[in-house]
Amino acid sequence: MDALLREFEERKMRALARAISWAESGRGAELIRQVYARAGRAMTIGLTGPPGVGKSTLSAAIVRKARSVGKTVGVISVDPSSPFSHGALLGDRIRLTEHFVDPDVFIRSMASRGHLGGVAGATADAVLLMDAFGIDVVLIETVGVGQSEIEIAELAQTTLVALQPGSGDSVQVLKAGIMEIADIFVVNKADHPMANQMRREIRSMMEMLHFTGWVPELVMTQALSGEGIDELWAAIAAHVAYLNETGEIEEKRREAFIHQVKQLALGELQHKLDRELERRADIGLDPYAAAERVLLEFGMHGHERYEHARPNRARATVKGL
Ligand code: GDP
Repeated sequence: MDALLREFEERKMRALARAISWAESGRGAELIRQVYARAGRAMTIGLTGPPGVGKSTLSAAIVRKARSVGKTVGVISVDPSSPFSHGALLGDRIRLTEHFVDPDVFIRSMASRGHLGGVAGATADAVLLMDAFGIDVVLIETVGVGQSEIEIAELAQTTLVALQPGSGDSVQVLKAGIMEIADIFVVNKADHPMANQMRREIRSMMEMLHFTGWVPELVMTQALSGEGIDELWAAIAAHVAYLNETGEIEEKRREAFIHQVKQLALGELQHKLDRELERRADIGLDPYAAAERVLLEFGMHGHERYEHARPNRARATVKGL
């Protein structure tokens, strides 16, 4: 532990790699306690979107851009639905290969063998460790647009949602509640014949909405050729500036912190509850009585009424409703 911490402080990449492995396997608590105070400097970017839209090509282009302005970069690839541990996914991330030899680019795919908070928890730890290590830009790439991908992308300060022209994605955008999480829409494959139509669809969808704060930007890119990446980088910078100027950054940090604490505590409770239920054989009781008895065991009284948590503030409402 001491040796690892020393190497971490000396900014040895292999110490960062080991630290993340520890976190993944549920042994990261002590380390994170030691380095936590140093986190909070990194710019964090989430990237989500359907398979094939060009996320890994976009990631490579964003890394290239960040490197060209002298930033160190960490890339975290996450596939919440994949049963494979890291390595398997990394094999697919061929498009990042040009950055493999760059010592200022750290690329990692995530697994969650034994992390209390699952893959989201392991990813949150990895972001924190990269940040504390001193990496300037952390990019979190997730494979899909399901609930857990959204949750993971939201670990970041700025969330990019990549959309595929000609795929009907724009309808999905509203359906899946993605409008709520996108800080920037990226219509990739701008060279596609349907790209402009998609841009129009998203624009008219946004016109139906009233945004209470940041109004999502829409950027057209061609990740393969690098076209539009400067504009995307500028949009990210504009969002970061907005967060800082309005103080929303603090709110975001607070929300992320509470979320992480909740995941850890829930994981612990879940374990405890599972053990307790295995041990007991109160099957004869009715389920309410059995639940009450278990909670009493934990020092909680049944029938306590809790105030419901404040619902999240809506980011956008439909005009005229
Ligand atoms: P991911 O599954 O979202 O990570 O998508 P990939 O980055 O693997 O890209 C899927 C395919 O789209 C690859 O064949 C890329 O070469 C291609 N692609 C990525 N960006 C563009 C683009 O801007 N234009 C075109 N025409 N193809 C692209």
